Amino acid sequence: MTEQTKINLLNRLELQGFKSFAGKTIFEFPAKVVGVVGPNGSGKSNIIDAIRWVLGEREAKQLRGEGLENLIFAGTPKKAAQGFARVDLVLDNKNRAFPVDAEEVVLSRRVDRSGTSEFSLNDAEIKLKDLLPLLARVRLGARGIMIIGQGQSDIFVMSSPRERREMIEEFLGLREFRIKKSQAERRLESSLVNIDKIKAMLEELAPQVRVFKKQKTRLEKRSEVEAELRGLEGSYYSFKYSKLDREQKTLLGPIANLKIEREKLEKNIQDEEKILNTLYKNDDGYAAMKELRNRMNAFVDAESSKQRELSRIEAKMEIQKEAPPYIYKPTELHDFINELKAKMEAVLALDNVTDMKNRLRELVEGVKKFFSKKEEREEIDFTADREKLAKEIGELKSHIEALRKEEEEISRKARESNVEFREKVGMLNEKKNNLYLLDRKTQTLALQRETVEMKLEELQREWAALGRNFEDLKRMQTGAEFGENELRGAESRMLRLRGELAAIGDIDENIFKEFEESEKRYEFLEAQLADLEKAAIDLKALIKDLDQRIKEDFKTSFKAISDAFNEYFKLMFGGGKAKLVIEEKERQPFLSEEMGAESSSAGVPESKEEQEQELGVNIDLSLPRKKITGVGMLSGGEKTLVSLAALFALISISPPPFLVLDEIDAALDEENARRFSELIRQFSTKTQFIVVTHNRSTMEAAEVLYGITMGDDGVSKVLSLKLEG
Ligand code: ATP
Repeated sequence: MTEQTKINLLNRLELQGFKSFAGKTIFEFPAKVVGVVGPNGSGKSNIIDAIRWVLGEREAKQLRGEGLENLIFAGTPKKAAQGFARVDLVLDNKNRAFPVDAEEVVLSRRVDRSGTSEFSLNDAEIKLKDLLPLLARVRLGARGIMIIGQGQSDIFVMSSPRERREMIEEFLGLREFRIKKSQAERRLESSLVNIDKIKAMLEELAPQVRVFKKQKTRLEKRSEVEAELRGLEGSYYSFKYSKLDREQKTLLGPIANLKIEREKLEKNIQDEEKILNTLYKNDDGYAAMKELRNRMNAFVDAESSKQRELSRIEAKMEIQKEAPPYIYKPTELHDFINELKAKMEAVLALDNVTDMKNRLRELVEGVKKFFSKKEEREEIDFTADREKLAKEIGELKSHIEALRKEEEEISRKARESNVEFREKVGMLNEKKNNLYLLDRKTQTLALQRETVEMKLEELQREWAALGRNFEDLKRMQTGAEFGENELRGAESRMLRLRGELAAIGDIDENIFKEFEESEKRYEFLEAQLADLEKAAIDLKALIKDLDQRIKEDFKTSFKAISDAFNEYFKLMFGGGKAKLVIEEKERQPFLSEEMGAESSSAGVPESKEEQEQELGVNIDLSLPRKKITGVGMLSGGEKTLVSLAALFALISISPPPFLVLDEIDAALDEENARRFSELIRQFSTKTQFIVVTHNRSTMEAAEVLYGITMGDDGVSKVLSLKLEG
């Protein structure tokens, strides 16, 4: 026996404006058996209605009215109507059965004429759906057989098997689990509906997401190829650039040195010429020699300039010969690939293998040809220019040669005439020859520098064709080194990468963004779906657990209840036998068992295995000296007796905190009425009874009696009487 069954749960009931109780009326329940007596129509049953109502009854029928408004004192010719009805039920909370830190809890319900009804627990508003589980925990409910209204004395017999099972569950305190179970079922139902909705949304998004994934892979591939290409271009061109730059720099020093050397030598020659001039100014040989030298210098200068021109032409010819790699345009490659694809498909359609091979060979040739393109540029034929220059140089050389011979002749003559003159001229000539050699050297180096500069210009042009900035290339220091083979390898790799880029084609950024949004939404929905599915699994497990617990608890006590039923049956009928039998029926899933809730919610498909077995309770009985086969054949009084046998069987196995019985002894004969009051007295040690009765022996069982009367003002009045047990 639990603690709560030992103490009086019901302490007090206060009515105000409720039905016939116009003013504030207080009922104290200080005893285990409280009787309510009074003439017909005085308002006794209204007290029971008040208890039912405050415990959450929603159906007007159960409260014997047509609507909530009928619960408010309607007024009589002598007493004005009330604006609202209020009922307070004061319950013991010493054992803190309610989650409120107080010795008592006041459960209140109020309704006004606008129909607004509200519940409160110790003055704090509470919703019915939150209140019901609390009441279930202390085994309180507005229905069932804990509150038996007038005319319901045969309730157990007249109820359906399922209702009987519910009554037994209520007595066994299983209603709490039933409520939890049906709440879980409703949550599961809405989870499943949401799962379906999300699945439909996911299905709708799936094609977009598929396209997006493809686009994304393409974009990733594209960036990968682009990155590799740019990297390779960087190292390839920066290697070429730094090589040329190094070459250019190594030429600068020697050229500058030669210039200084030449200036010095020239000055020296001029000085010596001056001396020769003063020493031999009258000498004809010297004058002739000087004149000849001037002519020769003119030829030498002309030859050098032609020579420079020739070298420039030869450098151009060299650059032209090593044509730079052809940079394919993406559209060009894209078109070629598409064309190739179409041609290959045509080949595949051929039946004849020989034809196929031939066509394939043609295709291979086509591909080779396509990829052997060279950078298109205007081919300039420098041959004629070169030959012309070579001829002119040859002519100039023979002029110089002739003059040299002339010079030697003059020298020879001078040598003969003057030794000193000879020596000086000889030395001067040697120096002049050195000057000539210096000029040749300078020329060669200058030409080399020019070639390098031209190559650099060419490099800059190619780099710009790639859409890149030359300053960046200068700053770039990749440190990459390429041998001859590696350079060729890099060139063909760059070509391949450009081809790949063209095959990937362009990707529309806007469409890509749109798809990206869809993917994000898809992922979000997927996560939600996973959460919901997990919640559904948890809820299913919870429902199964609760169901098992209800069934197990039910079955455990059932035999004892049935045996006790048999005992009370025999006692009341003076023999015979009776038992309760469990009936198992397949149950529609998610039938809501909450009071007043929709009887069935939107059909959610469930597998056969998940369908529950619904338990019902049937009554098997045989009366002494009668051949009765079913409860339907019983008389009204017999039905009440069978119901009372069930009621007392239930009390004996699991005594509830209190029972409210409204004239259920009305149909009993004297003997049974006496037995009834005896049983109440017997069980009042465990259960508190509030009994409305006209029966004398029942009244005798009561420790406190309330007498209800109704005056000519149509208002119920209360008279209390404490009887000495
Ligand atoms: P019985 O012994 O015949 O069963 P009772 O004492 O149980 O009678 P009730 O049914 O509780 O009587 O009370 C019925 C009385 O309450 C009637 O006189 C009815 O007019 C009155 N009544 C019911 N509702 C209201 C209301 N909203 N306003 C005023 N009076 C009401």
